[in-house]
Amino acid sequence: MLSNGVKRELTWLIGIVWLTVALSWITEAWTFWFVLLGCGYVVRHLWSMHRFEKWMQGDIDIHEPSSGLWSELCYLVSRKQRALEKHAELNFYRSEQFKAASMLLPAAVISVDKKNAIEWLNDQALDMLGLRAQDKGLRLEYVIRNPEFLSYYKANHYQKPLTVRLNNARVFEFKVIPYFETHKLLIASDITDLYNIASIRRDFVANASHELRTPLTVLHGYLELMQDMPHDDQWSMPLEHMNNQTVRMSAIIEDLLTLSAMESDSIDAEFGPVDVPSILNPLMVEAEQLLTERHTLKFEIDESLTISGFAEPLKSVFTNLVSNAVRYSPEGGEICVKWYKENEFAYFCVSDEGLGIAPKHLPRLTERFYRVDKDRSRVTGGTGLGLAIVKHVLEKHGSYLEIESTLGQGSTFCCKFALKPSIN
Ligand code: ADP
Repeated sequence: MLSNGVKRELTWLIGIVWLTVALSWITEAWTFWFVLLGCGYVVRHLWSMHRFEKWMQGDIDIHEPSSGLWSELCYLVSRKQRALEKHAELNFYRSEQFKAASMLLPAAVISVDKKNAIEWLNDQALDMLGLRAQDKGLRLEYVIRNPEFLSYYKANHYQKPLTVRLNNARVFEFKVIPYFETHKLLIASDITDLYNIASIRRDFVANASHELRTPLTVLHGYLELMQDMPHDDQWSMPLEHMNNQTVRMSAIIEDLLTLSAMESDSIDAEFGPVDVPSILNPLMVEAEQLLTERHTLKFEIDESLTISGFAEPLKSVFTNLVSNAVRYSPEGGEICVKWYKENEFAYFCVSDEGLGIAPKHLPRLTERFYRVDKDRSRVTGGTGLGLAIVKHVLEKHGSYLEIESTLGQGSTFCCKFALKPSIN
């Protein structure tokens, strides 16, 4: 199929040939008419080409060749140009809409290009982060100089936001969202009030727990003394109950203090190489001495596998998971503890054939005082804080708890540690 332009041009050509033949036939001057009309045809093309070029360069406004190929070309180019203009207008409208919306956000928004230069920033970035409009075009590192922020930004791991206190004493949560493969959007929210409330809560829990420790120790001491002293039989049972409850309260207080220490980053331990087998071997002996009457315990430990981390907190992770497996398994169930290496990771897994957990509880298990079965937890001496501690310790090691469980069949709790870890 011929295109419209070529069809139009052919119509013209046939018209000219027809005219040439007619005029030549009437005047019998064939050569004259052929040369004249041929030259006219060529000149018309050259003129149209010249006008077209000028129009494309923008030197003349409208180019409307009378007919033929050039008219079609002009029409097509104008149509394409109109579509492009519409597209550009739409893009411009969208980007203006985005800018207007982000001006209303209660957060500082900064967009940076592939060279980390600031392309655009909203008014809140000026107010909250103390940036200036002239900072546009400067590299982000030159305008936000906080060392913690810089190492977070350079590390290129943006899964978790960064919380940091800037020089203006405000606490910000920074999120970095890469886009277009080369660009990044930085969103900073002022969370000072939330942060202060959280630290007041943390301090309150830590102080209250600390203050309760001494009176409870005194109470516990006296109760033990009273148990040892000659007393009426009717007091034996209440004294034993009271003693057990003080032991339980002490355990809750110790766990609350451990959690507070985790949250406030004041871990009483050094980050360094941890010989996990040397923690697990005594744990195995302890567990076997105490529990083998009721359960079968199986330990599979890679004796050469060590990791970097905080030794004491890790010990509490392993103890908590093994003790849970024992406490939530009926008599005779098998408990399997594994410490092994796979690819570049070390795994600590505890499987049991116990009660199992319904799927609806799984997301909430690591919340403080969350218990699937409150009565059983109390009877077995649980504080309701074990898995919350596990979660916090694992976070400090850049790890998390994976739980697989089937109600009535058993559970597997696994922690995965990178062999080249980083402190969080
Ligand atoms: P607790 O001191 O009550 O055991 P944890 O934080 O250690 O508190 O555990 C939270 C809840 O998770 C427990 O109350 C229990 O219902 C459930 N749970 C933990 N481990 C297991 C397990 N191995 N099998 C079944 N349920 C478990």
